[in-house]
Amino acid sequence: MDARVPVEAMVLGGQRYLADPETPELRLDVVRSVNGWHFRLRGGVNVTGPCWRCLEEAHVHVDVDATEVSVDGSDDPELSSLYLDQGVLDVASWARDAVVEAMPAAVLCREDCAGLCPTCGADLNAGDCGCRAPAPGDARWGALEDLARRLRDDDAAPENPPQ
Ligand SMILES: [Zn+2]
Ligand SMILES: [Zn+2]
Repeated sequence: MDARVPVEAMVLGGQRYLADPETPELRLDVVRSVNGWHFRLRGGVNVTGPCWRCLEEAHVHVDVDATEVSVDGSDDPELSSLYLDQGVLDVASWARDAVVEAMPAAVLCREDCAGLCPTCGADLNAGDCGCRAPAPGDARWGALEDLARRLRDDDAAPENPPQ
């Protein structure tokens, strides 16, 4: 049957992603076998959320095709669906996990997203911000280099300095 399946919000890499629409139309097949249930969920889902590089809104399309099996009275996790509890199938969590599984390795607003400048945070897709990556010896890193040197010197100091 085709059903509007609610997809719970997803969290990936600390960012929140939502299906758009939140109840996409998916095909849900429920087959009762002799000793249990077989479920299959498939269809396309549009997901929106922040781009991993520039944090602007990104849209990705994923194709979901997930199956769950539940054998009556089985304790084997392979044979008893996580999403089936007391005869109720938690479609929303299943759909969320199925979408997460089908997500691309990186969520980007576009494949060649330039990301944010590590120095000033400007969106580099909008053009060069004029910053240059700080070179070693740059004044901005001077304090850290001093600290690193002091820590090294401390390590080298004798444990019981002469009185
Ligand atoms: Zn981006
Ligand atoms: Zn910059």
